[in-house]
Amino acid sequence: MKFTVASRGDSLSNDLCKTIKERLLKGDLIYDEEHPDIVITVGGDGTLLEAFHLYSHRLEETAFVGIHTGHLGFYADWVPEEAENLVTHIIKTPYQIVEYPLLEVVIRYRNGRPSKRHLALNESTIKSSEGSLVCNVEIKGETFETFRGDGLCMSTPSGSTAYNKALGGAILHPSLASIQLSEMASINNRIYRTLGSPLVLPQHHTCLLKLLNNVSVQVTIDHFNVPIFDENVDTIQCRVAEEKVRFARFRPFPFWKRVKESFISG
Ligand code: NAD
Repeated sequence: MKFTVASRGDSLSNDLCKTIKERLLKGDLIYDEEHPDIVITVGGDGTLLEAFHLYSHRLEETAFVGIHTGHLGFYADWVPEEAENLVTHIIKTPYQIVEYPLLEVVIRYRNGRPSKRHLALNESTIKSSEGSLVCNVEIKGETFETFRGDGLCMSTPSGSTAYNKALGGAILHPSLASIQLSEMASINNRIYRTLGSPLVLPQHHTCLLKLLNNVSVQVTIDHFNVPIFDENVDTIQCRVAEEKVRFARFRPFPFWKRVKESFISG
């Protein structure tokens, strides 16, 4: 089996990566940064998000597992003290795979620039960087509302505990193949009206955001800003992706237990 390790870059994570790499090589696994069957990240959720984007072109062949060297992560849910145990499991046992849904985002431009497709593990956001963002929200080809406000966030179920949660979105179990649209400070008065609550869309229900004003916008996919020529973004299309992310599961750590330990009590 081929593996790679990815570190957050701090000395604790680097040292742990080195130890894991040495142990796995001794266990006759092959180190392969290009075509890994398993990617072990050491750091936090951000490290796993980066690794996901690095290998997003080969999701069917790659499984991820994360160790956190800071606080408990949603994706990085192994503690450094468990690393030895994790390594033994990787060497000895065939592992179970758990798949989570992803968000597909297609950005289309007005000036004939080619459209760009992205996959998000957590979410995609669109924000105005000057004044209000005004956009039509279409669901399954029908106009739903005209949004005016700071921005919109479209999240995956596993990303529902991240930015989406800070926006008052619901936490969704990752077994629900869906995406959630939540608002950032919408303007609601006698003239402008939006639903005002987060919306959950099932698979195959496309949400299209059509920009109506020429404000400068910032589009994010997980932890990074999409490089765009602001005034030229025409639409942002979101739906549940065909692809899924695969996590290597070596011991049970149910989603609701992770939610409880992260937000209520450890
Ligand atoms: P970061 O260093 O700013 O950390 C963001 C925090 O979000 C970390 O504590 C991380 O563990 C946590 N996080 C990431 N994914 C999570 C998930 N699926 N469930 C629960 N917590 C999660 O940035 P980063 O580590 O590179 O993570 C990028 C993510 O930060 C973005 O995808 C976005 O979800 C989140 N974010 C949140 C807010 C907010 O809550 N107001 C604002 C910006 C970005």
